[in-house]
Amino acid sequence: MLSVNEARARLLENFHPLDPEILPIDQAAGRVLAVDITATQDLPPFANSSMDGYAVRCREVATASREQPVSLRVSGDIPAGSGQPLPLVEGTVARIMTGAPVPEGAEAVVPVEDTDDPRDQAHAAPELIRLFKAAPPGANIRPVGQDIRVGQLVLPAGTVLRPAAIGVLAALGIPRVEVYRRPLIAIFSTGDELRELEAELKPGQIRDTNSYAVAAAIESYGGRVLRLGIARDRVEHVQAKLQAAGAAGADLILSSAGVSVGAYDVVKAAVEAEGKLDFWRVRMRPGKPLAFGNVRGIPFVGLPGNPVSALVCFEVFVRPALLKMGGHRRWEKPAFPVTLLEPMHSDGRESYLRVIIERQGEGYVARSTGDQGSGVLTSLVQANGLLIIPENVTEAPAGSVLSAWVLEAWD
Ligand code: AMP
Ligand code: MG
Repeated sequence: MLSVNEARARLLENFHPLDPEILPIDQAAGRVLAVDITATQDLPPFANSSMDGYAVRCREVATASREQPVSLRVSGDIPAGSGQPLPLVEGTVARIMTGAPVPEGAEAVVPVEDTDDPRDQAHAAPELIRLFKAAPPGANIRPVGQDIRVGQLVLPAGTVLRPAAIGVLAALGIPRVEVYRRPLIAIFSTGDELRELEAELKPGQIRDTNSYAVAAAIESYGGRVLRLGIARDRVEHVQAKLQAAGAAGADLILSSAGVSVGAYDVVKAAVEAEGKLDFWRVRMRPGKPLAFGNVRGIPFVGLPGNPVSALVCFEVFVRPALLKMGGHRRWEKPAFPVTLLEPMHSDGRESYLRVIIERQGEGYVARSTGDQGSGVLTSLVQANGLLIIPENVTEAPAGSVLSAWVLEAWD
């Protein structure tokens, strides 16, 4: 049996970034850049004012104060969007708006708040203005290239296109980008007891939970879902699903259940018949039965059947695989220290316990969401984190500090 780290490393060796595709930037959020983006222009492209105010020569306002204002003639009015303004006439100022180009000769902008400008709406520029404050050179002027210089490698390949990066692309006038393709994940459930959602349940039957929970997890990490439904506990039925996944061009095949040691656990045999099984057990709780292999070259992961185990194994093994296929350079989930508010136990396998993490004082504390049975899905609903008890640790007393993963944004 492999440790979690051994199993994950072995599994991830089989995943690589998918081919890139070209997308409009309004469809590229969350994707990973496949090429370097070099700036073809400066940003800002021209020196502009960062305040509404008056463009001045510094020495002409050097003595200005509330008590002894400096009065100057207003020779120009420069709104945002105006073309290159006329040079600033000696001994005068120009009214200027935020984002408007700074005229030649102007060295600073005195904010409107530091003048006697009446500041009523839509008024014409006054003829004379009294300035209450001096301005050092460059004050309230955003110089050319303050943010980005032409020729600068502004977004290297591998950058995750978060909103700010999308904004940079827009600012540089780049309408389309080359990003890694989203992986297509074929999923199916196995089990004679499973029925579709609308079906009336006969005694002994339950609804197929995993197809839905796992599909939601795939989508939350940027994958596309191909649903293949439910396979009966028969080798040929599972083989048919594997073949369908291959025919559909899946990048990864995910099944749930039927990978343990029960008499009807046929998934391993089906994978051996259609491809190759690499490993099928991991020293982990929940989720000891976890199969990995390939079906004619397509990676296959057989998740455990219990819904909690399926989702926890998804976080541990499938999430990093999806990120790697999507071109992410980092796929490790950040872990951070939490102090236990109550004792926690494990059987010595690496354990992932459902916890509620909260801030307390300078740090974070964790308490269990209750029944940790691997069929108790509501205790995963309540959890905002997974506490990791390392291998060979069976008792973690209250007050001890362990690592935890955050599952969702705090709410
Ligand atoms: P198995 O690994 O096939 O022994 O399944 C383990 C447990 O998970 C059993 O109690 C199954 O009924 C349950 N289970 C398997 N697949 C699903 C599913 N898709 N939805 C809900 N429960 C499931
Ligand atoms: Mg079963």
